Amino acid sequence: MAITPSTTDVIVIGGGPAGSTTSTLLAQYGCKVKLFEREHFPRFHIGESLIPETYWVLQRLKMLDKMKKSHFIKKYSVQFVNANGKLSAPFYFHDNKPHECSQTWQVARSEFDLMMLRNAAEQGVEVHESTRVLEVLFEDGPLTPNPSPPEGRGGKAVGVRIQKEDGTTEEVRAKVVVDASGQSALLQSRFKLRLWDPVLNKGAIWTYFEGAYRDTGRDEGATLVIQTPNKQGWFWYIPLHNDVMSVGVVGPFDYLFKGRGSHEQTYNEEVAACPAVKERVANGKRVTGYFATKDYSYRSKQVAGDGWVLVGDAFGFLDPLYSSGVLLALKSGELAADAIADGLSRGDVSAAQLGKWGDMFNAGVDRMRRLVCEYYDGFSFGKFVRTFPQLKNAVTDLLIGDLFTERVDAVWQPMESLYEEGKNTIPAWSAGTPPEVAQTKTNELFLPSGRKP
Ligand SMILES: Cc1cc2nc3c(=O)[nH]c(=O)nc-3n(C[C@H](O)[C@H](O)[C@H](O)COP(=O)(O)OP(=O)(O)OC[C@H]3O[C@@H](n4cnc5c(N)ncnc54)[C@H](O)[C@@H]3O)c2cc1C
Repeated sequence: MAITPSTTDVIVIGGGPAGSTTSTLLAQYGCKVKLFEREHFPRFHIGESLIPETYWVLQRLKMLDKMKKSHFIKKYSVQFVNANGKLSAPFYFHDNKPHECSQTWQVARSEFDLMMLRNAAEQGVEVHESTRVLEVLFEDGPLTPNPSPPEGRGGKAVGVRIQKEDGTTEEVRAKVVVDASGQSALLQSRFKLRLWDPVLNKGAIWTYFEGAYRDTGRDEGATLVIQTPNKQGWFWYIPLHNDVMSVGVVGPFDYLFKGRGSHEQTYNEEVAACPAVKERVANGKRVTGYFATKDYSYRSKQVAGDGWVLVGDAFGFLDPLYSSGVLLALKSGELAADAIADGLSRGDVSAAQLGKWGDMFNAGVDRMRRLVCEYYDGFSFGKFVRTFPQLKNAVTDLLIGDLFTERVDAVWQPMESLYEEGKNTIPAWSAGTPPEVAQTKTNELFLPSGRKP
């Protein structure tokens, strides 16, 4: 095993949107950054619909020109179909904010993530693909598995042990380690920091069609959120380039995965029972197999420790509804990069410094979480906007991802005034799940063989 000297400022684990963002911004600050990604890009990933507030981070990353020149479908709005098949008026982002940031994109993630990673390399990040991080190294020696409590155990993070494509391993040292390993959540799992969401317990099954129905003009790129007639779940209907349509059903874990047939069978039963989807895909040809995932709603109890910080899904993930995942990956990457650069300039890589953005970030995620939980509890955008037309802008602010401001909190009290009698308040994410429930959960992704976008 080789050991390289400590010439690197920051190591980033994972080259998804969170890892690319953190590393690119740190390179812009002049830091020496090594990024290790276990896959060779392009690789498949779910999470295709961006929301407008990604614009500001993409701008800092110098990605905007690349996005404008790309063949990704332009997205101007989101539209809801209720359980009776009634289509809401589109929420056009531009009506809310007349600025070019109000147009965003629907992306094939294999291509978008590759663009982001190349962009990081162009700006000076040393990118190593096909290189897996086996463990994070701490100054008090290797971390014992599953220590508890997490705080302080193992001392400060000082580097990682990697495995290269040829199977050889190496220790690489740095002043800060950023965990951007997505749902693998390397440090969160090792330190037992994961809190499963007490309310959100969904799964998803999806596939891709060519030639399925799509709107034209400004509406071509709209995301449709289509509630199933039995109100158990909803479909995403996301138009991608090359006439590909991403169509997925989301529902409670027990409903989708317990006592039903194969993923294919369950998916087809859900489409057959949902006329708004059935008629849209009727003339389409399915071009991939069926994908599925479950147990993906969680957050970490801590955002940082001494010498380490979590970003993107390695910190937490909410739910596919409203497409906030990539925005939160970009935003946490940005906030972490700023805190790291500031800390390095003052020789402070303490948990307090690296995670100083955590409370503000959690408050923003909580706003999106509340909107998600309200939808699952029967909230209707159409009814809300008809009753409180003056709040259409505030609710659209939430939909575009403008989450980090108290201004949008104006919607909650009016929303509560529409509650049906007896409706319970939504438990906080930090309530977690009882240990007997938590131990039954494992995040899993099922990929079909063959073509993937
Ligand atoms: C069903 C579903 C639908 C979704 N739809 C949307 C949507 O429409 N819009 C949206 O914005 N978001 C969506 N998301 C969320 C989105 O996919 C994620 O939030 C986003 O990909 C997070 O980015 P990330 O960089 O944190 O993680 P990832 O994109 O997962 O990147 C992590 C990277 O780390 C690498 N890695 C992992 N372990 C190691 C290791 N040990 N060593 C080296 N590398 C490693 C992985 O290979 C991967 O490339 C959806 C999620 C789900 C589950």
